[in-house]
Amino acid sequence: MDIPWTVTKTKLGAEPCRVLTVTTMEREIVDREIASMPACDCVVGIGGGQAIDYAKYFSWKRDIRLVTIPTVISVDAFVTPASGLRCKNDVIYVGTSTPDPLVIDYDVIRTAPRELNVAGIGDILSIHTATFDWELAASRGKSEYPFDEESIGRARQLLQSSVFDKIADIRGVTDDGLWSIVEGYMTINTICLPLGHYRVEEGSEHYLFYALEKKLKRSFIHGHIVGLGVYLMSRLQKNDFLRIDEVMNSVGLKYQPVDMGLSRRDVKEALQSLKQFVANRSDLWFTVIDDKNITEEWIETSLEGLSFAPEL
Ligand SMILES: [Zn+2]
Repeated sequence: MDIPWTVTKTKLGAEPCRVLTVTTMEREIVDREIASMPACDCVVGIGGGQAIDYAKYFSWKRDIRLVTIPTVISVDAFVTPASGLRCKNDVIYVGTSTPDPLVIDYDVIRTAPRELNVAGIGDILSIHTATFDWELAASRGKSEYPFDEESIGRARQLLQSSVFDKIADIRGVTDDGLWSIVEGYMTINTICLPLGHYRVEEGSEHYLFYALEKKLKRSFIHGHIVGLGVYLMSRLQKNDFLRIDEVMNSVGLKYQPVDMGLSRRDVKEALQSLKQFVANRSDLWFTVIDDKNITEEWIETSLEGLSFAPEL
């Protein structure tokens, strides 16, 4: 994969662009790096999610124009306003910045590995499990926000039109397939920004990923690990999981644990401790994880169709 990088241009114009390669997203270090850069009137983020998030943060800190040119669409960083940074082991979301313009160059994006662009559907597929979780929370009187059935309907419609109706295009990484993912992200924003939260797009499938990341102290390709979360949590929800499996397999999403170097024990232990993990995190919303028992029998059955990396 290309190294993500950002370019800054000074106000004087006579100076060449400053090029900054992103080597860390640790906020403390990023703050120091930004403080050491000269005055400038524009920051251009070119690359994957980290380069875009870095440029967004830079633009917010300095209150300067942001231009973003994603070279892969594996994550939705280029359409969300907040920047994902790290503070110790945790991901934090800071600031708001909107690109002007956001440049989508299909040929550039297609130079990224196909599987990374396909991974872009992860945060759209998650609507399947996240909307179920919000409905469940509302039915139990546990929704943290005013329940909004219309937003759920719009999110499901977008899942249908951006992913279910575009499987061949996404698999083939055609212009239509790539645009479908970009448009899907933008529509999620138009639903979620007025609501003030991303509950139609984030739920138990993301929480399993947080648990795995915390336990294993390593990062994952977002769309792949979210795909595994959708696979398992749609089973816990008893929520049309065979259809979702078929979509993920048809589109070629790499959601199998073996693709992410996860052993059977890694996934099993994460599921065994998942209820406790979410119970310890007061910032996480009510989902199927709180509502259902996660039994040994359910775990065994749910892991049957998955392929794992060998134990180390
Ligand atoms: Zn996500």
